[in-house]
Amino acid sequence: MRIGIIGTGVAGSVLAEMLAGTPGVTLRAFDRLAAGEEAESGTGLNVGPNAMKALRLHLPARHAAVRAASLPWARWSIEMADGERLFDLDLRDLAEEPGIRLRWSALYAALRAPIARLTRHSTTLEALEEDAQGRLVPVLRGPGRHGMGLFRPGGFDLLVAGDGRYSRLRELALGASPSRLHGVAMSRLLLPQIPDTAPIDDYGQWFHGNARLLAYRLPGGAAYIAGSVPLDTPEAEISAEMRSAAYQHALYTPNGAISPAMAWLRDAVVANAHRQHWARLQESPLERVALGGRVLLLGDAAHAMVPTLGQGATQAIEDGVLAGAVLRRGGDAHAVARLRDARVDWVRQFSLDASDTLLPRAHPGAAPARAGTLAKAGPDFLARLRRLYTDVPGPEAVTAPPHAQTAFPAAKRTG
Ligand SMILES: Cc1cc2nc3c(=O)[nH]c(=O)nc-3n(C[C@H](O)[C@H](O)[C@H](O)COP(=O)(O)OP(=O)(O)OC[C@H]3O[C@@H](n4cnc5c(N)ncnc54)[C@H](O)[C@@H]3O)c2cc1C
Repeated sequence: MRIGIIGTGVAGSVLAEMLAGTPGVTLRAFDRLAAGEEAESGTGLNVGPNAMKALRLHLPARHAAVRAASLPWARWSIEMADGERLFDLDLRDLAEEPGIRLRWSALYAALRAPIARLTRHSTTLEALEEDAQGRLVPVLRGPGRHGMGLFRPGGFDLLVAGDGRYSRLRELALGASPSRLHGVAMSRLLLPQIPDTAPIDDYGQWFHGNARLLAYRLPGGAAYIAGSVPLDTPEAEISAEMRSAAYQHALYTPNGAISPAMAWLRDAVVANAHRQHWARLQESPLERVALGGRVLLLGDAAHAMVPTLGQGATQAIEDGVLAGAVLRRGGDAHAVARLRDARVDWVRQFSLDASDTLLPRAHPGAAPARAGTLAKAGPDFLARLRRLYTDVPGPEAVTAPPHAQTAFPAAKRTG
């Protein structure tokens, strides 16, 4: 059985480690980045306790490595701009362990380390062909003896799309899929060094109307600040005015009192307005299996989701771990879909529901920041969070399909 992984980001790296050394499996991985190159290194991530549980149960060495590269995400607080605290959660009251907060580059480095030997770097998927046996052949562009060129690494029984939100493999297998926009602009900023006296620490959020700042400290004295700004319509673009320091100063300044944390964050955002990165809140429809089961989609390639609950990379880790557990036991892409899709749909809906306080007022699901936040402290939301953070099966719960052997039968067709 030849398995090819396109993209060793979060999901692809975790899957590769899960499958490495599986009897009967020949594994190859490809990524367009050069070895050691980390995309998006200027961003912070908070990864949920559910991803940590998946790693702890299935890949304990990786659990230890990402813990070592991160700070614990143990608390989640929400305040209004004047400092009124509406929500203050100790994640350990609901989860089996804290989540983590770390630099995106640190997560990639920790996940990619064990699969470096398996990965062919600087290779970009461009096209897809079939061999005479009906197996998929990726056509990749990468370095060869005569400079950059196209090469075909042979046929694969299963090709895995781990190539992220703008997945080329998804596009080749299923055609272009439209993103769903919700009318929210998101800014992000990494500050490499903040003073010890800065009034932020673990994961906090501060609202002025439906505009919100989110911030937390990162390892090494750095901090991450993300802004959220309602747009006029779902499809509206992010204007140059909105990105300006003056606009953001007004956006995050209440009429009355302002808390020390909100004032510090606003001033940091205003001073660094030219360094912010901007994107719009969006998601894409869930697609798990394509081309008759010969393509399996994982992570953002399968289900790019809104970032509100910090579940993008978190679900990509769950995907990689659990797809690996299924494939290792002889399951196929459809078996991965059976294990994962109901959970992923539920997480996506929960993330969207939790975005109510960020949406423009005219949006049907929008809630005022204060009322929407108070509802999050109620039993229904907390019960959903508990399920989010704990509902992760261990190895014993991932059963082999009927008639399957403990691993892939020796491949009849080798490439
Ligand atoms: C601003 C921002 C903030 C976020 N914050 C959080 C957060 O706090 N918590 C959280 O859990 N999630 C967060 N996310 C989401 C998270 O980053 C993604 O959900 C996660 O990275 C998805 O993992 P993945 O493995 O599917 O894809 P990626 O991590 O994007 O990896 C894709 C890989 O495929 C490679 N690749 C792409 N195209 C090709 C090609 N054609 N050929 C070969 N290789 C290719 C890339 O180089 C990359 O290595 C955030 C996202 C953004 C944009």
